[in-house]
Amino acid sequence: MISVAKDFANAPAKLLSQKCQDLITDAISHVGKHKFQKEYYAGKENEDSSKKNLIALYNNKCCFCESNASPSSFWQVEHFRPKNKSPKKSRYGHHNGYYWLGYEWSNLLLICSKCNNKKNSHFPLLNSENRIKNHPLDANNSLISNITNSIYENEGCILLNPEIDKVEDFLIFKPNGDIKGIDTQGRGEISIELYHLRRENLILARRKISDDFLMR
Ligand SMILES: [Zn+2]
Repeated sequence: MISVAKDFANAPAKLLSQKCQDLITDAISHVGKHKFQKEYYAGKENEDSSKKNLIALYNNKCCFCESNASPSSFWQVEHFRPKNKSPKKSRYGHHNGYYWLGYEWSNLLLICSKCNNKKNSHFPLLNSENRIKNHPLDANNSLISNITNSIYENEGCILLNPEIDKVEDFLIFKPNGDIKGIDTQGRGEISIELYHLRRENLILARRKISDDFLMR
């Protein structure tokens, strides 16, 4: 995982479309019943969509494991704050889903299917009492959806976000290909666990990069 600089103010046209705005309104007025439409939050690679812009931003690599797409692993547009509720009996804390962030540019990441498998809709917080349970509104009754807003920062999420967090303050790579969390709050280690970053093939790939570097 490496930090990237996303232009949060410049959402893809597809997310700004009237249809997408209508979907957000529907998601808020039909909590738990709205069917999130991948065609809108992800879109296709040949239109001004989240998928196309994220592939360019991440240089065709998974935002968590940095693997390229392969025949066994395909691109998905991931909701950092999950749009649906947490799995039953999650040991990472319960939530009912951040239903208002399903079509939000700042909440969308590029992820390979292997990383997404384990993260599922877990979203642990440092203190679960700080969980935002309903869509937050500002003084003008407008939805606060940009997850770089302080209201989200104050929630104290554990998982690392390469678009927001300075990843190198939380994770180190060892010469043997292993990865280790180094922060005192455990955000690095829990991210490694939920993004499944100790997969055998990732350790081998990182060890090869390290070996090649040392051989030079
Ligand atoms: Zn991945």
